[in-house]
Amino acid sequence: MKPIAEWKFHYYRLLLCFKSMTKVNKNGFRFDFDSSACQECAALCCRGESGKIWVNHLEIENICKFLSINSIDLVQKYLYKINNRYSIKERLRLDDYECVFLTEGEQKSCSIYPVRPQQCQTFPFWDYYKRSKNQLLQDCPGVRFSCIF
Ligand code: SF4
Repeated sequence: MKPIAEWKFHYYRLLLCFKSMTKVNKNGFRFDFDSSACQECAALCCRGESGKIWVNHLEIENICKFLSINSIDLVQKYLYKINNRYSIKERLRLDDYECVFLTEGEQKSCSIYPVRPQQCQTFPFWDYYKRSKNQLLQDCPGVRFSCIF
């Protein structure tokens, strides 16, 4: 690499690192999460393959308050039961499944964001991803595995 090109390369790498001021990390995980990437992301964490989005009773109560809806209606409309647990329903969109609380249209966002379940709040710091780095990189463009020059 030519000296000027090399200098520019390092300069842009540095800029990228400074841009990552919004990044967070968690003990036991070998990556950071840069939440600024969410602005460009098509909500990959809320759609894709079908999966479970678990909600506990306290979370159900909070969602009910947030949506001004009673728990019977919430369960009927948005949840389904598996053994003794509840998961949020999904809808099929083209080849993907997406959470029913994901807004439709161009700008995707969570319609219950302030009361979204713990499972959503802790994404992408899931134990599952400790063993599936490739899947993690596919599922979340905000993942950073450190700035190495
Ligand atoms: S509840 Fe919100 S954050 Fe969680 S999967 Fe659904 S749309 Fe995404």
